Amino acid sequence: MVKGSVPNTADAVVVGAGAIGASVAHHLAAAGLGRVVLIEREAGPARGATGACAGGFRQQFSSARNLALSMASVPMILGFTAEHGLPLDLHQDGYLFCYRDEASWATACAAAAQQRAAGAKVDCVSPSEVAALLPGLSLDGLVGATYGPEDGIADPAGLTQGYLTLARRGGTRTCFGVEARTLQMTGDAVTGVETTAGVIATPVVVSATGPTAADLPATAGVDVPVTPLRRHVVVTGSFPGCPRRHTLVVEAATNFYFHREGRGVLMGMPATGERPGLSAPEPEDFLAGELLPEAIRVLPALAEAAVAAEWAGYYEMTPDAHPVLGPVSGLAGLWLANGFSGHGFQQAPIVGKLLAEWIVEGAPRSVDVSSLTLDRFTTGRLLAETQVV
Ligand SMILES: Cc1cc2nc3c(=O)[nH]c(=O)nc-3n(C[C@H](O)[C@H](O)[C@H](O)COP(=O)(O)OP(=O)(O)OC[C@H]3O[C@@H](n4cnc5c(N)ncnc54)[C@H](O)[C@@H]3O)c2cc1C
Repeated sequence: MVKGSVPNTADAVVVGAGAIGASVAHHLAAAGLGRVVLIEREAGPARGATGACAGGFRQQFSSARNLALSMASVPMILGFTAEHGLPLDLHQDGYLFCYRDEASWATACAAAAQQRAAGAKVDCVSPSEVAALLPGLSLDGLVGATYGPEDGIADPAGLTQGYLTLARRGGTRTCFGVEARTLQMTGDAVTGVETTAGVIATPVVVSATGPTAADLPATAGVDVPVTPLRRHVVVTGSFPGCPRRHTLVVEAATNFYFHREGRGVLMGMPATGERPGLSAPEPEDFLAGELLPEAIRVLPALAEAAVAAEWAGYYEMTPDAHPVLGPVSGLAGLWLANGFSGHGFQQAPIVGKLLAEWIVEGAPRSVDVSSLTLDRFTTGRLLAETQVV
């Protein structure tokens, strides 16, 4: 097959082979949509936000919608291998949010009570319980932590590859090295997508384009308020005192986080004064001046660790830190799965399922996501999420 070729027609075109697009393609094919085509401008899958991702999944969200999405999605991650017979590297060692002042601890406990009322497994634990869970974590000023024992980490690229394998088994054609340039329209309906390898006529285009999600819909005059926000990740080599558990620890005051990765740890943190945009300037001295001092403050044993790898990726932020899902009012055929604001990996399984239900059956049945359509930005029905890590 010629690299980068595309078919002339399809029943649905999914744009983007990150975790979201791969899940959407699989679920569309599994729902029997017909000829599904997945196009990706890079030479392989998971090269956008998914490839930079820390892989955390959790039930600790302040928003009922994000919580509902995670509670439906996380079991699909946990059960992926059993259900599909495909490998997925996964550690269910929990998520620990650490609080070092009384006021934020009180707020966190109230939020945890709400999460429990919604069915999530979240415990409020004491500093001594934290010490037992994660020996070596600084207890300096620690008031308490919220712990989600059913939370964990998994391999984002592995999940993406898994869904692509399933999508191909279901008949999906995957086309790498192909960029979607413009949406083609007849009246108020999408009739195709023009790509770098030719036009694909289709009545359904699913835009799963990650941090640059605003670009393709803009070719049809649709404003999708997704902004890229750079986030750095550092992975260390082995060091004495490296935690054995893979618990994802978040220092709530700074949003510094880490989890065991290989023989070291993977860690990240927002930079002070971070600015959105693909061309936002690199924060000066972030690694030596901000990330590493905070890392050593939280886990003092990291003072002996060496940096083994580092990279940056982009969150796909919306104004209310919730995804934009579903159809676009007044424009038939364009479907959005965008704006996951730092938590899209864990939502990918259920988002694929919901989009397939919406497109094939006419409504998203598994989770009520009616509040997550694009029109909330024009009608002012914005949501709120305070636990963006
Ligand atoms: C540093 C970092 C840490 C993170 N940690 C977590 C975490 O712990 N847990 C969690 O749940 N989430 C986390 N996230 C967020 C998560 O990675 C994203 O929300 C998720 O991967 C988004 O998946 P996606 O498929 O929508 O986007 P992407 O993975 O970016 O995929 C979009 C794809 O679309 C392609 N594309 C774009 N435009 C076009 C076009 N016109 N034509 C063809 N192809 C196109 C891109 O090349 C890309 O491959 C993290 C993100 C970052 C950056």
